[in-house]
Amino acid sequence: MATVGEVFKRLSGVYKSKVWWDGMSPTDILVATILSQNTTDKNSIRAYKALKRRYSSWDELISAPEEEISGVIHSGGLPNVKAKRIKQTLSGIKKQTGSTDISFLHEMDKKEAEKVLTSLHGVGPKTAAVVLSLSFGKETIPVDTHVHRVANRLGLVSEKTPAKTQAVLEEIVPDSIKLDLHHLLIEHGREICKSQKPECGQCVLNRLCNYHITSHQR
Ligand code: SF4
Repeated sequence: MATVGEVFKRLSGVYKSKVWWDGMSPTDILVATILSQNTTDKNSIRAYKALKRRYSSWDELISAPEEEISGVIHSGGLPNVKAKRIKQTLSGIKKQTGSTDISFLHEMDKKEAEKVLTSLHGVGPKTAAVVLSLSFGKETIPVDTHVHRVANRLGLVSEKTPAKTQAVLEEIVPDSIKLDLHHLLIEHGREICKSQKPECGQCVLNRLCNYHITSHQR
């Protein structure tokens, strides 16, 4: 049976965490996370860099037409949806606080800060968790489609939606490994435990995994 500790130990021996957020402000991380939805890291980083080149500040972006923003981030996938989401999210923050800077969340406790972020249009639990974790060191385990799939196949959780999986993992994963486990499960989902065809034969977790064990019993 898979346990959080064993999964973490085995995956840590295979993958290394990538640090992509060094030098970024909390609002930069928020925008980069919205851009990362439903696309590869390569595409979203390219779109993020294009935005930073085009606009000297997030306030300048808010004043730009959505079609223009969409053109700037066309390489990032779903440009119209993301342009609208970024503009609405940043405008929402500015309307509430008078600024696009979300550094004030640092002073809040995790639940309070999460509530503020998820009240913004376009910010769900996963995006909020990434921002809280990477910007402010508030221990969370953001759950995207990879983390959701792998955690359910392993049997760490049995949940229908990423938001529900996140709620359970928040409870059962120790704070000290939440962020690292998030990165490890994403890497594993991309490399081995793929959506359509998991490569169980090559997986370091196969002896612990519910999905693999039960598919062998059929
Ligand atoms: S054994 Fe298969 S289903 Fe289980 S985690 Fe590994 S690749 Fe995914």
